[in-house]
Amino acid sequence: MTTYRNPDENGYYGEFGGAFVPEMLYPNVEELQQNYIEIIESEEFKKELNDLLKDYVGRATPLYFAKNLSEKYGTNVYLKREDLNHTGAHKINNALGQVLLAKKLGKKRIIAETGAGQHGVATATACALMNLECIVYMGEIDIARQAPNVARMKMLGAKVVPATSGSKTLKDAVNEALRDWINNATTTHYIIGSVVGPHPFPDLVARFQSVISEEIKWQLKEKIGRENPDYVIACVGGGSNAAGTFYHFVDEPSVKIIAAEAGGFGVNSGKSAATTFLGTTGVLHGSKSIVMQTNDGQVIEPHSISAGLDYPGIGPFHANLFKNNRAEFFSINDDEALESAFELTRLEGIIPALESSHALHVLKKKNFQKDDVVVICLSGRGDKDMETYLKIIDK
Ligand SMILES: *Cc1c(COP(=O)(O)O)cnc(C)c1O
Repeated sequence: MTTYRNPDENGYYGEFGGAFVPEMLYPNVEELQQNYIEIIESEEFKKELNDLLKDYVGRATPLYFAKNLSEKYGTNVYLKREDLNHTGAHKINNALGQVLLAKKLGKKRIIAETGAGQHGVATATACALMNLECIVYMGEIDIARQAPNVARMKMLGAKVVPATSGSKTLKDAVNEALRDWINNATTTHYIIGSVVGPHPFPDLVARFQSVISEEIKWQLKEKIGRENPDYVIACVGGGSNAAGTFYHFVDEPSVKIIAAEAGGFGVNSGKSAATTFLGTTGVLHGSKSIVMQTNDGQVIEPHSISAGLDYPGIGPFHANLFKNNRAEFFSINDDEALESAFELTRLEGIIPALESSHALHVLKKKNFQKDDVVVICLSGRGDKDMETYLKIIDK
């Protein structure tokens, strides 16, 4: 049987993945490749991380049966409440895991990139907790549109460094962080915030996020007497909340997998981040995947209303699901995500992140049956997006 969950020893999911890095990064990447599984699967590490996830993050997050949403769409909708995690999104699952890993590797300095600021806040939080130096690279445009998260990172003691090249957003922040890592290879661990980057990062981050589907399984069993839903749905920027939500289901053929990408103004508008609709095979940020690029390999600037989905690639895990038709991909536009954000707020009293609202909108795009059990990952809360939402309320 093919497994979709695990890459091969070189970090390949089918034809996607690998580690394409400059020679100066080989020692770091190899150090990680050789040690990560042994460290993170050790009983001592698992206990330390699980204690933190329980008492510091607040896990297990609820699996909430959304009665009003279910009635409206004539099916059974369960929301996996990652929005209730400490710091407001799933990002903390990975940040804590990687900071613990960095400590085991003897690193004193942590760098990270961030888009919406959620990964930056999560990393700064974990570094404050464990007394490590923290530097966060963030696109200049994102710094302007995510001011509350920038303030939180600074209050937590992190240094926020603007990325001023390209579109001044997430992909440029990743480039800056990789550059820093090359210059500070021995002292520094780079905490990538999604299932992207050179092997072993996609697998490392997927393992730390897999707690999401691990919990869904026992929570569903408790609620409806079976572990597997009919559908799991998540939004995909780089794909970490989606990889975590899909992880324990991708190799269960009865579970249908749905990924929601950011359509921006529309797939054919020239302002989009719908990678599987627009992309081709290429190498971005150290791994081979599907990338939005011109014929001569220049990365095309993405657009999404949500900073967390504003990325011109997807992780190799998801590229492989797409290539093999294991997952169905939807492109959800800015205005559609906004519509679903307001719908959830008014129907259930939950203000979701704009990113998560892309996943919610699949309810309007696909017909589910009365008996279907549909689990949607609510990856984060909407506090950081209030400025965008207010523009609509005030209209
Ligand atoms: C960062 C973020 C995302 C997108 O990142 P993935 O790696 O694709 O999960 C989605 N939702 C929220 C709330 C985020 O903060």
